[in-house]
Amino acid sequence: MDALPADDVYQDGNALAGPLSEIFAVDVTAAVGRCTGCGSTGPLARLRVYGPGPGLVARCPDCEQIVLRLVRGPDAAWLDLRGTVSLRIPLGSA
Ligand SMILES: [Zn+2]
Repeated sequence: MDALPADDVYQDGNALAGPLSEIFAVDVTAAVGRCTGCGSTGPLARLRVYGPGPGLVARCPDCEQIVLRLVRGPDAAWLDLRGTVSLRIPLGSA
């Protein structure tokens, strides 16, 4: 497990709504993710989000595993989801 930030100050996953809306056309905070660390599932809004600098780091509230990292550069974004098994994104009927 990666070390926790020293100050342990975080926001809930709703802090990801704005930054992720630039990448996804849907509100991803309602998506249900599964943590690779403990297997728990829950909406992204439930994650603990640390940042903003040098990027946003979202941790599982159950095991503290990093499930998502987001760094926004001047002309691109880097999204690291290696701590997420899957994302279930609610959509309208196809
Ligand atoms: Zn977990």
